[in-house]
Amino acid sequence: MIYTLSQPSGAMTWFPSDNHPSDKATFELRITVPDSTTAAATGLLIDETTDGARTTTTWRMDDPMATYLAAVYIGDFERVEHGRLQPDGPLLRDYVPGDAPPEIAEALAVTPDALRFLEELLGPYPFDAYGTLVLPFDLDLALENQTLPVHGPDYLTADIIVHEAAHQWLGNSVALEDWGDIWLNEGFATYLHLMFDIEHDGDDFNTFMQQVHAALPSFAGTPPKGITIEELFGASVYLRGAMTLHALRLHAGDETFLQILRTHYERSAGGTTNTEEFLGIVDEFAGSDAVTIVESWLYDETVPDLPLGEPG
Ligand SMILES: [Zn+2]
Repeated sequence: MIYTLSQPSGAMTWFPSDNHPSDKATFELRITVPDSTTAAATGLLIDETTDGARTTTTWRMDDPMATYLAAVYIGDFERVEHGRLQPDGPLLRDYVPGDAPPEIAEALAVTPDALRFLEELLGPYPFDAYGTLVLPFDLDLALENQTLPVHGPDYLTADIIVHEAAHQWLGNSVALEDWGDIWLNEGFATYLHLMFDIEHDGDDFNTFMQQVHAALPSFAGTPPKGITIEELFGASVYLRGAMTLHALRLHAGDETFLQILRTHYERSAGGTTNTEEFLGIVDEFAGSDAVTIVESWLYDETVPDLPLGEPG
């Protein structure tokens, strides 16, 4: 089979581009495959033509997309359609291996709930289609390709599905101006998947986050804005990044925090952002003390204390 995984800089190995997350483009992909295989790609399938023993499919992404989020998969896949999330909402379709066991469909069934959970927090889903491509072999990762995240078959838990879905808003629609701000992608997606996994289930989210905080220095203590290139996808940008948002929430309270989250998305939807812009929104809604707290989480060498407070 053929597959692509392009984050952060792999896109240039399969198409010429200005390969930087800040330089988005619309895409049309045309893929010709032998009859024994199926092609899947990011965007909407707009045409399918068979000529003898070959089929050509055309895929369009009219919303601007960073190069690393384009993806192509060719192999023994079945396209599974689920209609639309709402009558005028995104088309839901997954691609699963031809011999996928029933557990795959059971795991993917959380997708509409995940999207509705995120829509409630952030606003309408940003693209025309959504779904998961499940690889037919073990690969310990998932990646948020625009409209079509790819998951290894063991990476299909609800929290990972929510995480990749959250990136459609934060990471894909709102892209980075610079990889050095990767915490804006991973910290936010992690916080949202933890909210879905723990808070949504009725468990005590703050107690859980206090436990993560206590363990943070041992495995994710590096400040998210102080990472090296080797730490681009290290635990710090995910977990200390998520804890940065939790500290802000404890300080500012639920209502203000959720306003900040939504405003951060809405102001840069379809474009790009950076940490300074986020801090500007924090200042606008929660004031300079909140900015100081967020900055300490992003820049201080040691892990800060969490503010006293209770999400409520
Ligand atoms: Zn992620």
